[in-house]
Amino acid sequence: MATVDKSGAAFAVWLTGVGGHLVQVRATPGGGPGPSGLLDRLAVAETTDRVRAAVLNCALPWPHLPVALSLSAEAHLATLSGADLAVACAVLAAAGHLPDDWLAETVLVGELSLDGQLRPVRGVLAAVLAARRAGLRRVVVPHALAAEAALVPDMLVLAAQRLDQVVGYARGEHARLPAVGPTASPAPCTPLVDLAEVADQPDAVAALEVAAAGGHHLLLLGRPVSTSRLAHCLPGLLPDLSADQALEVTAIQSIAGLLPAEAPLITRPPFVTVSPSASVPELLGGGIGLPRPGAVSRAHHGVLFLEQAAEFGQQRLEALRTVLDDGEIRLARRDAVVSFPARCQLVLASLPCRCGSSGAPCVCSASARRRYLARLVGPLLDRVELRVRLQTPVPSTVPHVPAMDSAAVVLQRVRQARQRAARRWAARGAGTNAEVSVAVLRRESRLPDAVTAPLDQALATGALTRRGADRTLRVAWTLADLAGHDQPDAEHVLRALHLRDRRPPAC
Ligand SMILES: [Zn+2]
Repeated sequence: MATVDKSGAAFAVWLTGVGGHLVQVRATPGGGPGPSGLLDRLAVAETTDRVRAAVLNCALPWPHLPVALSLSAEAHLATLSGADLAVACAVLAAAGHLPDDWLAETVLVGELSLDGQLRPVRGVLAAVLAARRAGLRRVVVPHALAAEAALVPDMLVLAAQRLDQVVGYARGEHARLPAVGPTASPAPCTPLVDLAEVADQPDAVAALEVAAAGGHHLLLLGRPVSTSRLAHCLPGLLPDLSADQALEVTAIQSIAGLLPAEAPLITRPPFVTVSPSASVPELLGGGIGLPRPGAVSRAHHGVLFLEQAAEFGQQRLEALRTVLDDGEIRLARRDAVVSFPARCQLVLASLPCRCGSSGAPCVCSASARRRYLARLVGPLLDRVELRVRLQTPVPSTVPHVPAMDSAAVVLQRVRQARQRAARRWAARGAGTNAEVSVAVLRRESRLPDAVTAPLDQALATGALTRRGADRTLRVAWTLADLAGHDQPDAEHVLRALHLRDRRPPAC
């Protein structure tokens, strides 16, 4: 009768979005029948075959008995982030080939190729953050991802290229694995459009500054080439991400598999463009195994730009609205609910009508124009505080370009305005005017009736919804911050209404 060997255990990470949990992988040669579900059986068989080949090709021992694998949590092997290394080490520990005490204090992340190479996986930063939260301080990662893993402070990050390197190090036989310090340089910034290129649209540039200062959403009506150029100016007007924001944004990009290995830290607000042809998973997230964050999460702490917004369809715009209201997207999976943060600034762009003539005479009837823009009317548009119809460029041999502040000057004003808002709302849990709660706006920081009179009037006549009035009030606060005032006056409220009111559809 076959005897059951001792089992071995090693830690891997189960990612549930940007968050994650430590999972103990236990390997028992000759033990148990394994998982009951077909998918799990297939995943275990596939992993075992791959890991067995890697172990044997590194001239390491593999048990003669079939190996049963089990996990300490309700995770499935297929959803663990690079569990191969942990599986291999658990099996080797069962054979007495790796010290249990070293494994008990180490998190192992990486996929194995058949010849024993450690291959990169998505989401290493999130995995290392999960390890630190769980109280473990040592993590082994594939060499190619060392700089990304080292972004997490207070962790000993060991970079390995092969399985036998890890084993030799753990057994004290090999030279040290290189420990990687936090020396990663920031990822290169997205190339931006300079304000000088959009100087023929002063109203839109003014609205961009307000959007940047308050974190407000923006609608641009005009030709795609102009709206796109303007939208691309916005990230250049936003300040750098804070250290915590940078880690969060970087972790999302890492799970999306979009992080450059050589310069992983993202310090600038992301800018993500989505066109109407994007699928729902591309927009909101999804996919098999570890889900990929969608555009709405990849734009977290940055800008989500919807090209041809009127063509997205009510259903997707409505789904987007729900995500923006919640500040996160939750995706139901077989073994868990995966969630990704989604706090971004929205820029919607649309043609003013179906024929798209923003200069040449429009051939659409008035009712056709209304019908076209009515596609944008609805709860999502109600949340868009700033609306600009682009001006038609006047053909001229000597183009008149109004004098305009450089992006650096505007950014400086934006920074100062954001600092005022952050100081004011810090005790109330908000960082920008767009984030401050309705309760604070309406009660704690209530403005005198004389100041809000235009809003009350618009509410009374049905020209504004209650939410629309609150959003307009937030813009008024931003205008006051940009002007260096302690609180908005009637002028700021009127201007905020004007910035919202350039809308063709009523809402
Ligand atoms: Zn038209």
